[in-house]
Amino acid sequence: MNDPALEPQEQKMQFLYTLRSKGVTDPQVLGAMEKIDRGLFVRGTFEGRAYEDTPLPIACGQTISQPSVVGLMTQALQVGPRDKVLEVGTGSGYQAAILSQLARRVYTVERHRRLVRETQALFERLDLTNVTALTGDGSHGLPEQAPFDRIIVTAAAEDPPGPLLAQLKIGGIMIVPVGQSDAVQSLIKVTRLEDGFDYEELRPVRFVPLLEGLGKEA
Ligand code: SAM
Repeated sequence: MNDPALEPQEQKMQFLYTLRSKGVTDPQVLGAMEKIDRGLFVRGTFEGRAYEDTPLPIACGQTISQPSVVGLMTQALQVGPRDKVLEVGTGSGYQAAILSQLARRVYTVERHRRLVRETQALFERLDLTNVTALTGDGSHGLPEQAPFDRIIVTAAAEDPPGPLLAQLKIGGIMIVPVGQSDAVQSLIKVTRLEDGFDYEELRPVRFVPLLEGLGKEA
């Protein structure tokens, strides 16, 4: 993927081709990923590698996730146009921007204030008016906006956090990587039922850990 000799338009076509070949087949998700340019969410040294199917470093020692994993997680979330979605782990804002194309309303929470500031500026520039980035410890969810139709966590938790389970509507879906931070984790789909939760293991993934509290510079 991403041959630097290719024109930007060809690089983007290859980007979409790779997504499809890795199992991202939902036309709505592919449409959102075609529209939201990952190149705008990767800055500095790694800018030229934005269309590679790989995680890349961003500010605050964090990463923008691998595009095919973003696509597969978004697909598994089964977002509808009336849904209110919570993302925990804003990072670059890329995942939240994609969700903004599919949902009615998106809230994204990040523990690093600098990442939130940069993301807010980018959302304004792109005129994404249905997505709000907030600084906070997302493991507590966002009680003031709960309950949510969909919740996506883009950092690995040891277990699906209790407050997030509590803020999911009945019939709602949460996608969360679960496992020890230094090991390969499992991507889990949690569905809230009338009388409990259904857990389905989707695939192995590797994410940075879900940490407590705010980032140091906040
Ligand atoms: N979704 C992001 C994107 O599209 O660029 C990538 C997320 S990155 C893999 C994980 C992010 O989760 C990091 O930015 C990290 O600071 C954040 N994070 C970790 N623990 C958190 C917490 N308790 N609350 C909010 N954000 C957290």
